[in-house]
Order: sequence, then C-alpha cells, then structure tokens
Amino acid sequence: MSPDDRPGSLTAPSPDLHCPHRILLGVEHSQNRQLLAGLLGRFYQLQEDPAEVHWGHAFDLCIFDSLFWGRFAHQIAAQRAAANPVFLPFLLLLKRSHLPLLTVAQREQVDDVITMPIDQTELLLRVESLLRTRQQALKLNALLAQEQLLEQQLLVDNQMLKALATQDGLTGIANRRAFDEKLAYEWKLGRRGQTPLTVVLCDVDHFKAYNDTYGHLAGDQCLRAVAGVLDTVVRRPADMAARYGGEEFALVLPNTDHEGVASILDRLRRTLQARAIPHRQSPTSACVSLSFGVSAIVPAEPLQPEDLLRAADAALYQAKAAGRDRAVVAPALGHSSPLNQGQT
Ligand code: GH3
Ligand code: MG
Ligand code: MG
Repeated sequence: MSPDDRPGSLTAPSPDLHCPHRILLGVEHSQNRQLLAGLLGRFYQLQEDPAEVHWGHAFDLCIFDSLFWGRFAHQIAAQRAAANPVFLPFLLLLKRSHLPLLTVAQREQVDDVITMPIDQTELLLRVESLLRTRQQALKLNALLAQEQLLEQQLLVDNQMLKALATQDGLTGIANRRAFDEKLAYEWKLGRRGQTPLTVVLCDVDHFKAYNDTYGHLAGDQCLRAVAGVLDTVVRRPADMAARYGGEEFALVLPNTDHEGVASILDRLRRTLQARAIPHRQSPTSACVSLSFGVSAIVPAEPLQPEDLLRAADAALYQAKAAGRDRAVVAPALGHSSPLNQGQT
C-alpha cells in the first residue's frame, strides 16, 4: 500500500508543482482561517487575507464562511460569472446548526458545504474532489477551444480547396469547371428573367508556332499574360473570364447588349496590343493576337447552354478562317439573337 492509499491519510494530494492550485480562502473567523491555512497551505497556493483579495484573479476554488459571504456576496457572484463557462467551485464553511437555514438561492450558489468544527480529512477530500472537477472543466474547455480552432482551420481549408477547385492552375483565373457552372447558372437566370446571355470563345492565334519559337515556358508565360488581359477587361461582377482549355479562353457576359460586347472586345484588343507580346513567327501580326467567336441568346427552351457554346465555337472557326485577329458573331440561335451578326 502506497502512502497515498492509506485511509484518511493527510499526504499531499499529488499537487502540480509547476502550477499549484490557487485557492481563495475567504474565511473571516480567524481561528478557522489559521486552521485551514495551516492545512491547505502545504499543498496549495492560498489567498488568505480577506482585505487583500484581488477579485478577478483566477482561482481554482473559493472557500468562504458565511461572514465572508455576507460581506462579499456581490464579488463572489461576479467571480463565478467571470469564470464562466469553466466551472469554478465554491465551498462553504458552515455550522451544522445553520445548514437548515440555507435558502434555495444560497444553495444554488455553493457546490459543497463543510460543517464546523472542521474534520481535516473530510475537508481535504472535499477540496481534492472539487479541484479535480475544476481540472476536468479546464481540460474540457481547452479541448473545446482546440476543437473550435480546428473547425475554423477546416473552414479556411475548405474555402481554399473550393477556390483551388475552381481556379486554373497555370493562369489563376477561373477554370473550365467554374466556367461550366457559371454558364449553367447564368443560363437559368437568363431564362427566368428573359435577359440576354453572351459567350465569347477566345483563341490565341498561331500559338503552336509561339511555343515552337520561344519554348513551352515562354508559352505558359504568354498564356498568363493573355489571361491577365482578359481578367482586367472583364469588369462587371456578374462577368467571368475563364481558361476554357489549352490556349483557349472564354467569357461569360450576362445581360450585356451588342454595344457592351463590342466595347469589351475592343478594350480587349487594345489592351493586348498595348501588352505587345512579340510573336515573330505569326503570319497574322508581329505580336500575339486573339480570335473571337461570339454568341448571344435570351435563353429559352428547347435550347441548352451547349447550343450557345457550339455557336460561339463555329463563329470562332470562322474568325480563324477569315484571317484570325478578329471577332465573328454567330447567327441568331433559335428565334432571335440580341447581337447583330457578323464580323467586328
Ligand atoms: P490557331 O491560330 O489556328 O489557333 O493555331 P494554334 O497554333 O494556336 O492552334 P493549335 O491548336 O495548332 O495549337 C495550340 C497549341 O497550344 C498547341 C499546344 O501545345 C499549345 N498549348 C496548349 N496548352 C498549353 C499550355 O498550357 N502551355 C503552353 N505553353 N502551350 C499550350
Ligand atoms: Mg485552339
Ligand atoms: Mg490557337
């Protein structure tokens, strides 16, 4: 049997030497205070002078008698509220004959009662038990805080993953998946509100020759530059510039009329010209140029977003065939197209 296993033993209750428990000894009765201080002071850090109590300091246990309670009821209640949500145990010293006098409200405020004259072993056991509960509450609170932190981290990670899942790895603009989702969403919105929806497919002219001339890494850099131009020119919050695949890009322009689309394409061309990315092997231009296929519609059954894309692709093909570095607007889909048809 170890010393701690002896019944009623008054050995140290395995105190944490690095962080001993702090006990507020709110005992006005000096004889009782001395008795408790002598007993508990061996194991715990005590705040025993009632005149010098630093309310608001973190205690692990508050022991008080009814005199102290009467004087500092307000501060005692505030101490517990400040500890919330971590359990801060209150132990009341009381004459046995006063036990029946405790009101319901008072009983709700204390966690345990020790009667006088004090039985030292009983007191130690009660103190140990309350401190253990306090320790568990602290641990639980720390675990909860850790869990909350992990949850927040998970939320941030999820947002980052979501952003990554919709972002093109090379250029940083929206990827094909984001484009498809956006097109489907805007299609529904346009169908409901009977508003026009425009798609522009953009293809870098003679890009194979660019790669062959300047190398694949320079080609990647060129695609980044083109994506940057598209992204700066497309300004309205509902618009989207995306990498459609390879050296092809796409714009989704909801609720944009013919003049709006024409002005975007014009800005695009001028911004790209200002970037003046040399392409000495291009039969079309001394600098990198783009061809555009434009298609617009007020979405309606039985047409689908794919029909709009197919029309834009056919227009792009025409732009290439007609000499590149230009835009071709697709013929009206279904009954009507909000855009005038032809080259711009
Ligand atoms: P056109 O004017 O008819 O569009 O001719 P093009 O050479 O641009 O078209 P083609 O389809 O023949 O070649 C496209 C090239 O784009 C070939 C392919 O290697 C290159 N490409 C596609 N994706 C990437 C990429 O991520 N990085 C680089 N550097 N090149 C790419
Ligand atoms: Mg292509
Ligand atoms: Mg191309």
